[in-house]
Amino acid sequence: MLTPFQNEPFGNFDSGNRRAAMQRAIRHVAGQQGGTYPLVIGGEHIITERKLASINPAEPKKVVGYASNASQEQAHQAVVAADAAFRTWSRTPVSARAQVLLRAAAIMRRRKEELAAWMMHEVSKNWVEADADVAEAIDFCEWYARQALALQGERQPLVPYPGEFNELRYIPLGPGLAIPPWNFPLAIATTLTVAPIVVGNTVVLKPSPRAPVMANLLVQILEEAGLPPGVVNLITGEDAVIGDFLVDHPLVRFIGFTGSKNVGLRIQQRAAVRQPGQNWLKRPILEMGGKDAIIVDETADLEAAATGIVVSAFGFQGQKCSACSRAIVVDQVYDQVLQWVIEKTKALRLGNPTKPETDMGAVIDQRAFDSISQYIAIGQEEGRLVAGGEVIDHELVKDGGFFINPTVFADVKPHARIAQEEIFGPVLAFIRAANFDEALAIANDTEYGLTGGLYSRNLERLERAREEFHVGNLYFNRKCTGALVGVQPFGGFNMSGTDSKAGGSDYLHLFTQPKVISERF
Ligand code: NAP
Repeated sequence: MLTPFQNEPFGNFDSGNRRAAMQRAIRHVAGQQGGTYPLVIGGEHIITERKLASINPAEPKKVVGYASNASQEQAHQAVVAADAAFRTWSRTPVSARAQVLLRAAAIMRRRKEELAAWMMHEVSKNWVEADADVAEAIDFCEWYARQALALQGERQPLVPYPGEFNELRYIPLGPGLAIPPWNFPLAIATTLTVAPIVVGNTVVLKPSPRAPVMANLLVQILEEAGLPPGVVNLITGEDAVIGDFLVDHPLVRFIGFTGSKNVGLRIQQRAAVRQPGQNWLKRPILEMGGKDAIIVDETADLEAAATGIVVSAFGFQGQKCSACSRAIVVDQVYDQVLQWVIEKTKALRLGNPTKPETDMGAVIDQRAFDSISQYIAIGQEEGRLVAGGEVIDHELVKDGGFFINPTVFADVKPHARIAQEEIFGPVLAFIRAANFDEALAIANDTEYGLTGGLYSRNLERLERAREEFHVGNLYFNRKCTGALVGVQPFGGFNMSGTDSKAGGSDYLHLFTQPKVISERF
């Protein structure tokens, strides 16, 4: 009998054991940089001649690890291996499958600081963000293990019918793809991998080339937890070579994807094309971007609102799909909230994320740096720069780190590009609204619908927002990031994805198909 699910606690690093453990882990991981990582196909570890270098965004001359670079033939072999393993894994009892996830959670818990330290190097997460990413990965394993036991280990309720024995089973789909982004390199890679496998599917995991080391660590952990060969196959490589190839593969049954709107749309379109020999509809499960807004009205606790905006906008350098990129503030309190946001933004410390005092590390790579810088240039035309902009701290950028100051533009119009397009970096647009009604209309006036926030003490407005603020995750009087598994199942509407909820009680249904068996007696 399993204990009820509980979220993994976050670390308190102010002093004591966990602080010392993290410092030890950072030193240990610093000594492990530059290793070589394999593809994993049918349990075989294959080091390719050509490699992809995963670099440290804060010190780009440092290579975190060299990932193997798969060819299309190797991608094909990985799908074939997943297809072969499906025959036995789908018939393995759900209790045994769930056990693998529980062991993986236990291993991650033991290696918590080490995994967090790797993330600091590979994607520039600071201590708190990296610790939260590991905690979420542990939560996904614990949560889906329990959910699978309920879905496949217990009888599903049906209306009794005289003379018949009726049964509903949720059976797996087949081999599928897990395509995570780099921004939650352990947590999202974990959810997209362990959710399908715990209900009996097999997977080809294709991580982002920006975070292949974290994906390798995940696969190592699953192997150590007893996962049989072929159930999870790891293919690292260039999207131009293997991305479309994997999505188009006729043996693929489902595609679990988290990433940008454009890639999600591309996958949706390609998945709709029936390939020769493909006798099913491919199921895309897509989690995409956001242009998330926090509304503040005149009744709110204004300082708490300013804190919530700053934390939501600049946590992990704004590189979260849930990040607040629009602050929509009613005219009456606009200047006051803006003032506090500027002060709190200017107090944030940029630096190497391995240092405990760092609030913000570097953005992921040169491409992101250039794209965000371009949006900052656009913002100069569209708003009034009140905080941030160019990085002028030469000490910080002497090693070429991709640092961008937390940046706030005031007086941005609701249809400005920086108020409509996902920037995925530390850039916040401040928008003035005449009143609450207008603020709500502005918040909804976007193609996305992922997270949203409202700071207000007015109960009538909170009720209206419950009904009318069209986002998948709505938060009142708190930050709009940091959804917890099981507590706030996560996922958005419209161009933010296929309306599903990772960490929710119905998520596993997405990787199954219901079968009804009726026996007359
Ligand atoms: P991305 O560029 O769309 O990439 C996501 C994944 O897709 C990566 O592994 C990527 O590899 C791969 N990919 C790219 N082209 C592909 C193709 N043609 N076929 C198959 N796979 C392909 O997104 P990202 O930059 O990694 O992540 C940031 C985005 O993710 C943001 O838009 C953010 O809002 C979104 N996100 C959403 C959620 C959510 O829950 N809704 C959570 C986190 C992030 P490459 O890296 O090589 O392109």
